[in-house]
Amino acid sequence: MTSHQIRKAFLDFFVSKGHLIVPSAPLVAKNDPTLMFNNSGMAQFKDFFLGNGTPPKSRIADTQKCLRVSGKHNDLEEVGFDTYHHTMFEMLGNWSFGDYFKKEALTWSWELLTEVYKLPKDRIYVSVFQGDEKDGVPFDQEAFDIWKEIIGDEDRIILGNKKDNFWEMGDIGPCGPCSEIHIDLRNQEEIDIIGGKELVNNDHPQVVEIWNNVFMQFERKADGSLLPLPAKHVDTGMGFERLCMAIQGKKSNYDTDIFQNTISVIEELSGKKYGVNGTLRSDNYVDVAMRVISDHLRAVSFAIADGQLPSNAKAGYVIRRILRRAVRYGYSYLDFREPFMCKLVPVLATQFEYVFPELHAQVDFVTKVVEEEEKTFLRTLELGLKRLDHIFADAKTIETKTLDGNTVFELSDTFGFPVDLTALIAREKGFAIDEEGFKSALAEQKARSRKDATKEAADWIELGDVDGVEFLGYDFEESPAQLMKYRSV
Ligand code: ATP
Ligand code: MG
Ligand code: MG
Ligand code: MG
Repeated sequence: MTSHQIRKAFLDFFVSKGHLIVPSAPLVAKNDPTLMFNNSGMAQFKDFFLGNGTPPKSRIADTQKCLRVSGKHNDLEEVGFDTYHHTMFEMLGNWSFGDYFKKEALTWSWELLTEVYKLPKDRIYVSVFQGDEKDGVPFDQEAFDIWKEIIGDEDRIILGNKKDNFWEMGDIGPCGPCSEIHIDLRNQEEIDIIGGKELVNNDHPQVVEIWNNVFMQFERKADGSLLPLPAKHVDTGMGFERLCMAIQGKKSNYDTDIFQNTISVIEELSGKKYGVNGTLRSDNYVDVAMRVISDHLRAVSFAIADGQLPSNAKAGYVIRRILRRAVRYGYSYLDFREPFMCKLVPVLATQFEYVFPELHAQVDFVTKVVEEEEKTFLRTLELGLKRLDHIFADAKTIETKTLDGNTVFELSDTFGFPVDLTALIAREKGFAIDEEGFKSALAEQKARSRKDATKEAADWIELGDVDGVEFLGYDFEESPAQLMKYRSV
């Protein structure tokens, strides 16, 4: 199955179970002061779970653009080194708002994975919450019994702790146990040597979590007590890129058709090859760079298409940092000296034309913004890297292995090096950075500039109505076009 078919099969499946398909919310979280970017499928439904508002239907499903680069979920550092965490990814989800509960949710997830996608049953593990006495939350016997009945084999059920198997919105409010689904993608010989069970939740690149089923059934009160919720809800999230890896029989998300287009253009532009010694190595920086670029391209392009321009503050700065991280990898390991990310934007836009048409609708604009960002950064990148080389050379002679805060600040202020980029380059040379020193240098500068009281340029741009383009898909017979039919519901 192609990735488009896999996505469509998910949506079709939940339509057949009475769900309404809704479009993804924008990547940039609007009207939510607690969240910079949407980092899960449920973010756009938060109000419904809190009882502020009614959903259009009690059963909903979608694919949500997520970005995990800040706050509670920050996977940025992993991206490029591992093969299954992205900055931007799609989270497929189905929800029940006071409608069905554990029995249906778990039965359907098994049915979809094993009957529609035909994933082998003996490669799947599921987890249920083991309970936490100290915290007053019970073992999820109900989910355990349901799984036992579905799978018929207790051995494939894992008991998980609070970190992995209990969800809470905050210190107070709705919460409940979750049940996750993991898949073992290793070769049979390896499985014969070490069984998969102990590798679950252990950062093994081929024994990965694909789906999380959250059951909101309690409310945590301010005094710490737990009350049953009057209406129980289901909130699920499945990593689309990981699912495609599993179904397409690959060992890395980057080997699926989702990333192959852009990786092959990066190969063409750089004249270098991806995965010469296999596609799983994290010590081959050509490969790491290609993964970083093909990943970050998505985050940056879709964020801009959703209205978040790179800037010097808040969400805009996060996007700028991601873009600069990609440019620096391209510069250092693929020898790019001219803007290259901008050349990849149209490739991505075409690939997602019928899935997230907002990018295709603004492809020229997004390309231009990316190109300008790249030009600006490339102008100082070389100077900054040279400056760093000198510093490392000097530092070695005096045997410190830490970059002082003022230098980190200078690199950021003069050369536009985000701190995490400096930290990354430093780490490659075996150095740490003095974060505290940097913070105080930054605070000093802020105090100085506060005096100037200059008004910051707006962080947001108003986009025209891009909804109209959604109907383009009707003319096409390919499966993505079918998807667009749902998007217009
Ligand atoms: P992991 O333990 O692998 O970091 P998670 O437990 O943080 O995942 P959840 O918050 O449960 O993830 O999100 C639901 C699903 O989204 C996961 O089961 C996984 O398939 C997918 N997912 C989570 N983070 C990422 C990411 N950074 N890139 C791609 N997919 C992800
Ligand atoms: Mg995580
Ligand atoms: Mg997890
Ligand atoms: Mg999880």
